Amino acid sequence: MQPTVPIVKDLVFVGGGHTHALVLRKWAMASVPGVRVTCINPGATAPYSGMLPGHIAGHYTREELDIDLVRLARVAGARLIVDRAVALDPKAKQIRLGTGRVIRYDIASLDIGITAEMPALPGFAEHAIPAKPLGRFADIWARACEGEGPIRIAILGGGVAGCEVAMAAVHRMTGLNREVTVTIIDRGRVLSSVAPAARTRLMGALIEHGVDVIENAQPAAIEAEAVMLEDGRRIASDLTIGTAGATPQPWVADIGLPCRDGFIEVDQYLRSVADPNVYAAGDCAHIVHDPRPKAGVYAVRAAPILTHNIRADLLGQQRKAFNPQKDFLKLISMGGQVAVAEKAGIARAGRPLWRWKNRIDQTFMDKFRHLPQMSAPALPKNCAKGVAAELSGPAPCGGCGAKLGARALDGVLGGVPGDDAAVLTMGNTRQVLSHDHLRAFALDPVLVAQVAAIHALGDIWAMGATPQAALAQVILPRAAARLQGAALNEVMEAARAVFADAGAEIVGGHSTEGPELTVGFTVTGLLDRAPITLAGARPGDALLLTKPLGTGVILAAEMQAKARGGDVLACWQSMLQTSAQAAETLAPHAHAMTDVTGFGLAGHLHNICNASGVGAEIDLNAVPLLAGAEALSASGIHSSLFSQNRAAAPVAGAQGPRADLLHDPQTAGGLLAAVPASIAPDLPGVRIGTITGTPGLATI
Ligand SMILES: Cc1cc2nc3c(=O)[nH]c(=O)nc-3n(C[C@H](O)[C@H](O)[C@H](O)COP(=O)(O)OP(=O)(O)OC[C@H]3O[C@@H](n4cnc5c(N)ncnc54)[C@H](O)[C@@H]3O)c2cc1C
Repeated sequence: MQPTVPIVKDLVFVGGGHTHALVLRKWAMASVPGVRVTCINPGATAPYSGMLPGHIAGHYTREELDIDLVRLARVAGARLIVDRAVALDPKAKQIRLGTGRVIRYDIASLDIGITAEMPALPGFAEHAIPAKPLGRFADIWARACEGEGPIRIAILGGGVAGCEVAMAAVHRMTGLNREVTVTIIDRGRVLSSVAPAARTRLMGALIEHGVDVIENAQPAAIEAEAVMLEDGRRIASDLTIGTAGATPQPWVADIGLPCRDGFIEVDQYLRSVADPNVYAAGDCAHIVHDPRPKAGVYAVRAAPILTHNIRADLLGQQRKAFNPQKDFLKLISMGGQVAVAEKAGIARAGRPLWRWKNRIDQTFMDKFRHLPQMSAPALPKNCAKGVAAELSGPAPCGGCGAKLGARALDGVLGGVPGDDAAVLTMGNTRQVLSHDHLRAFALDPVLVAQVAAIHALGDIWAMGATPQAALAQVILPRAAARLQGAALNEVMEAARAVFADAGAEIVGGHSTEGPELTVGFTVTGLLDRAPITLAGARPGDALLLTKPLGTGVILAAEMQAKARGGDVLACWQSMLQTSAQAAETLAPHAHAMTDVTGFGLAGHLHNICNASGVGAEIDLNAVPLLAGAEALSASGIHSSLFSQNRAAAPVAGAQGPRADLLHDPQTAGGLLAAVPASIAPDLPGVRIGTITGTPGLATI
């Protein structure tokens, strides 16, 4: 037998900045077995700001700037927690997140960058937008580009970033035939960090672009349509962009580790000078032995050293020192596809230099667009014939995609009617009872537990019952006892909160060690009305669906590192949506109701139709879909259960990628209810079709 490697260490990357993105990529190629890797980042993607001026100018789409951390984490075997660190306790070795969740670590590494916010400047938070973080800035810039008429832009800070942004803004607005006025305001001299030869060229370019430059001026306040300067001048501005701030995250200063101006002091190995278990890199670190300016190039250069040193700690090997270069090639864009290159005081400008910058940037981003392939685990020698064939193809799905198909269940359950839950009658009390469990679809036990709890509650809600109690069944992979205990605790706390929110309580459970995380719940509910079953749908009833379809295909694609991070995040959020409210509103009116899970929409509708002796028409175009689901379906990606689902519940006239999603197994899917058509518009959910008197399923 192959030994399963137990998890004995927790390595936590806080922030998916440039350094950590590169470290995770390296980890994908050479991991250290026995280590659980976690990456915490507030979004599913991390932007590459070197291409931000190009995005402002219109040379790159928003997506071209994004490092997809969901895909990266998947190939690296890391769990991604989409949240923000707000505190770190080096003594307890714990990181607290914005949601209140606590993550423990053996080794933590911080790469959380800085923001360009200027919290001390009155009105900045209300009326200005920092160029970093990118997400909000990109949205506001997109809206500004969609507007009409003249636009006045003020840029706070005349460093390289400010000047690049200024020229890019002029280029874009001019291209959109908009009249544009751009003013750079600097409290000193603009481009003071740039060598004279490059500065002369850039100043010339600013003049060519018609950018006004105000030097030695201190902004006093930002208003909705102006920047007020301390000397009383008023600079009209419809859009004020901050590029000057290099504000550290305020909580970092409270960690209790030495900081310089809010930046973590690190030694030559990139470790906190006071704590060998905490590393820091990129803009949030202050390299004590050789301080460097805040620039992406240093964050990138730190990556191989950080990778090596963390591996060295885990393997008991020798660390390497980080000796950042003194000077580096600066390629500065000038609005159009023209750039200045400067190194060692020598400067050149022209289109070929922009193409060079573009090549460097694209090469960097290509590292994340074309990630290392995930290889299947090696088979033991002398496997029986047929083992390799059985293991060929994509990895089996997690979530509901891992359910046994209708074909397999037919043989076992025979003629047992498959309502969502069993109804137990004891005197006047009617109780519903159901069980569900999920093979982990993600590496975060908390996410899996929350979704598994919502998923299990779906059966109770679908019957029109009120959740009452739950028993948990948890299978945890092998790990050191303290890590296993912590994981079980995380699972139970997360599930407990979901059940409490639904008005139910976990009253017991069972845990075992097994090859992979599986979380399930046996759930009971109480009925104060007749149960809503699959039987009862009537011809003419409207069919309402309360959540979009597509979790199966998105989770399958995610496991193959083929789904877009943003789509995966939206899918996770959809699964986490409770159906309690929808069920409460639908229950008094529904003739039949079910939750859409493993058999897909068509399979569960087929069950309603069979039990009710009716048929149904589906309006394919009305069926709500999760973002990205149709594109993934069109690319040929399907959940493991798809073919069996399609065979079990064929839909006449349904063809193509959208139709395929009718058979997509849903995890924690929405409710499907047959309700009187006259009241359907007042009920939750999207009307996706109609119950008919003709047996079978068809599209309209
Ligand atoms: C317009 C502009 C152009 C630039 N051009 C260049 C250039 O051409 N060359 C160059 O060398 N530098 C350039 N820079 C500077 C460069 O962007 C930064 O130096 C670089 O991004 C620093 O990388 P980093 O890894 O430290 O952090 P970042 O790239 O800022 O990444 C930090 C990550 O941490 C996440 N995060 C933030 N807070 C938390 C938290 N509390 N918990 C968890 N995660 C968190 C963020 O969401 C982000 O994903 C430019 C900057 C700007 C504004």
